[in-house]
Amino acid sequence: MDEKAADTKGIAPLKPELDRIAAVQDKTALMDEIAHLHLIGPNALFNFYSASDLHNADQVIAYLDQGGLSLPDRDYYIKEDADKAAMRQHLVDYATQLFTLAGQTPQQAAHSAQTVLVVETMLAVYSMDRTKRRDPKNRDHKMSRDEAVALGPNFYLNRYFTAIGAPNFTQLNVTNPDFFKEVSGVLEAEPLDALKTYVSWHALSAAAPWLSQPFVDAQFKFQQNLTGQKEIRARWKRCVSLTDNELGEALGQRYVDVTFGPDGKQRMLKMVDALEKSLAEDVHDLSWMSDETKKQAKVKLDAIRNKIGYPDVYRDYSSVVIKSDDLLGNVARANEFESKRDIAKIDRPLDRKEWGMTPPTVNAYYSGSFNEIVFPAGILQPPFFDKTMDDAVNFGGIGLVIGHELTHGFDDQGRKFDPQGNLHDWWTEKDGKEFEKRVSCVADEYSSFVAVDDLKLNGRLTLGENTADNGGARIALAALERLIAEDKTGKEGQKIDGFTPEQRFFLAFARVWCEKRRPELARTSVLTDPHSPGKYRVDGVVQNMPEFQKAWGCKAGQPMVADNACHVW
Ligand SMILES: [Zn+2]
Repeated sequence: MDEKAADTKGIAPLKPELDRIAAVQDKTALMDEIAHLHLIGPNALFNFYSASDLHNADQVIAYLDQGGLSLPDRDYYIKEDADKAAMRQHLVDYATQLFTLAGQTPQQAAHSAQTVLVVETMLAVYSMDRTKRRDPKNRDHKMSRDEAVALGPNFYLNRYFTAIGAPNFTQLNVTNPDFFKEVSGVLEAEPLDALKTYVSWHALSAAAPWLSQPFVDAQFKFQQNLTGQKEIRARWKRCVSLTDNELGEALGQRYVDVTFGPDGKQRMLKMVDALEKSLAEDVHDLSWMSDETKKQAKVKLDAIRNKIGYPDVYRDYSSVVIKSDDLLGNVARANEFESKRDIAKIDRPLDRKEWGMTPPTVNAYYSGSFNEIVFPAGILQPPFFDKTMDDAVNFGGIGLVIGHELTHGFDDQGRKFDPQGNLHDWWTEKDGKEFEKRVSCVADEYSSFVAVDDLKLNGRLTLGENTADNGGARIALAALERLIAEDKTGKEGQKIDGFTPEQRFFLAFARVWCEKRRPELARTSVLTDPHSPGKYRVDGVVQNMPEFQKAWGCKAGQPMVADNACHVW
């Protein structure tokens, strides 16, 4: 929070990193600096991390992945339309500004910025597009360490693995072999100075939000092109987000103490049970699926575990040194702690106790390799979950989110993983085709929705989320109907404030996705966000639901009644 100290220091906190890069004498030594940056945060050139083996989820292995871009998607570099060209210019302007602030002459800085664009454009060309990456089979390329090293000789990967402190592994997954093969040629062709400029850029842009005001302003101005945000958030809010990112399981303990009680967890567990039962019934009754695949689906559903609130075991940050007068150093040390923790998992059994989100996060997730659904304490508050409200409202809020996450286990990605979390096809060929036919209906439906101006959603990029939204709504409502039917007192079925339980369910559903976004963000999201905008997360679903039309008395031809309603789950 010491803004004054940050302003006084200027570029000084980053100077040692820039000096190290400037001192590099050859391309092999440059890999040491890239490894060092990967440890402390900036992700220049590519990504290296650990994750479950796609074919043996219980085992964690090393992953090499594409990366190294500053704009949020490869399309910004390679598409010719005016919008993308403008964004490339914004990047060049931003880089020119940061290089100038870092001490280059305006002329040098402009040249450096062009170099960044040239290098990143080549990385973008060889990157796999986001929609293709959705299919885990496209990211499944396990090979020996020697094969990976030979694939991209100019990455000097053995030197990199040593520099980053990786254990001595023999096998790894290279998610996009073409990237390493082709970019290796780029590394050979580009002069050392150009590569050093590119690497310095990543150090600079990652540090900018935590340096003096001119850096912070430049970074925010660049982000505005992507978000349309009018004002930078208050510094205390930026600091809270940073702390959540860097030390989330420490911050989360305080958060949980204040906000989360055992009664909330009990009610959640009951709802998860109800939703799992609904999905099981839905699968059982499906007309398009064979008994053989249904049996497998049931096994997978029964194997889904859940995590609610916060982890049983918190991450121990006691080795992270935090100094009150060293903001950038704190960021670097916290990142280094996390990078080392991640790399140390290579060639170890999967720790199923781990969480992928921090306790205060207002979100939830399904993990294919863990085969589990996870709900941090942050989402267990209004409007998603309210202890004081009736069941219909909570089924329309968090109940629908539970259904959504369960459905992810059976969406275009999730269905490819078996109950143990392995990439393994458990579908009959005919059922697989029937599934594809049904999700194509959803993809086409959402591809017709307009995000902003004449820009439409990408129905294939958002397919998993849209399938989950539709399935989640259906099984959450089914769970509520069962609750009403089983309630001997008749209380669950009563109107409140003049609304039936079904109407309250849909009102709660619409309210959780109530939002307003600026056109710039709407554009960026179409390219990068697998979720549809809030408007279509609601309208896209209810127009497929006869239950909605019944609840509100809608008739054919009215806006929320689709001519060709889609139905997967
Ligand atoms: Zn989702």
